[in-house]
Amino acid sequence: MLDRCFSSSLQLPLQSPIPESRIGLTPAVEPFAGVEYLLPTNVVPQKYVLRLKPNLSGDFAFSGEMTMTVQVTTATNTITFHTSDMNVASVTVTNIDTNSVVQVTNQVYLETYDFYTLTLESVVAVGNYEIYVAYTGYHKDDMRGFYRSSYVNSNNEKVWLASTHFEPVRARRAFPCFDEPALKARFQISIAVPEGLHAIANMPRNTSAIDDGEDGLDWYHFEETPMPMSTYLVAFVVSDFEKTSEDSVSIWHRPGLQSQALYSASISPKIIDKLEEFTGVSYHLPKMDEVAVPDFSAGAMENWGLVTYRERALLFEEGVSTSSYKQSIATVIAHEFGHQWFGDLVGPRWWSYLWLNEGFATYFEFFATALVNKTLYIK
Ligand SMILES: [Zn+2]
Repeated sequence: MLDRCFSSSLQLPLQSPIPESRIGLTPAVEPFAGVEYLLPTNVVPQKYVLRLKPNLSGDFAFSGEMTMTVQVTTATNTITFHTSDMNVASVTVTNIDTNSVVQVTNQVYLETYDFYTLTLESVVAVGNYEIYVAYTGYHKDDMRGFYRSSYVNSNNEKVWLASTHFEPVRARRAFPCFDEPALKARFQISIAVPEGLHAIANMPRNTSAIDDGEDGLDWYHFEETPMPMSTYLVAFVVSDFEKTSEDSVSIWHRPGLQSQALYSASISPKIIDKLEEFTGVSYHLPKMDEVAVPDFSAGAMENWGLVTYRERALLFEEGVSTSSYKQSIATVIAHEFGHQWFGDLVGPRWWSYLWLNEGFATYFEFFATALVNKTLYIK
């Protein structure tokens, strides 16, 4: 995230509270105890399948269905995950290994830690399970979670859109999840898009996905992420925005602003090329979308494959905007693209290590920009 001009919402412990046993691909073998705001270690996520129905009218209450595939690493009769500002309508737990339903006998929400805890009918064995949750959330207007935004079009009409901002702990507002950065999992997202709008997400739309068509809605199914990722890097935007593309990069903006997207569209693929060349590591996702969001709390956010920006951090009008704007746009893009490697591909164990993400991204702000255009900073 690029936030230096704005107040930071991060107020988190300086020391990592997570024990070594918790980290890495090998699930923890001991229950975690002692740090009460961390999730228990007996259940770890493997994959999320999310179906969302945004609602950009009326009370802005959206509905969702989340299916979490998890691994139970220690026999337990409770499962705890995060939710925030949502109403859970129903929960079903299934043992995948035996294809049998596990009865949930109690559900408790602990608001202090956003913990949603299921008590199961009996202790379940180590193995693979599915947790299905149907729920309702809200598109709030505070630029956190799956929030609502708007702009006024050329006909003087207010046009709504929905965007996301999850870092550090607001993915849990959009969907139930194990919302800690070390608990990475794959994501497969589907969004039912209101009439006249469209959706984008971390991955490209899977145009060959067949919808059941039962509800008659316009479903956008997105490809599954090619590798596990942190919840705070998930993103989706539902809007009527237009795109200006170059190579595999698209700049999404309010309709009619193509001319202001040309500069970021031209420089973005070049920055990715230079970062690939410098790191020797390919950009890992098949596309890059960059969105100029009318209401955005930070300067920009490095969601994997779907970077979101304040409009003025991405759009540039030749002959109108100052040259220092051009400079800052290149710098911000290079910062967020630096994160695609440092932060997204390799992520922090805990928020106390965020400085490392930001250190690399800050370095690439200038270094990657200079690799693309050596004269940008010369007056
Ligand atoms: Zn950053």
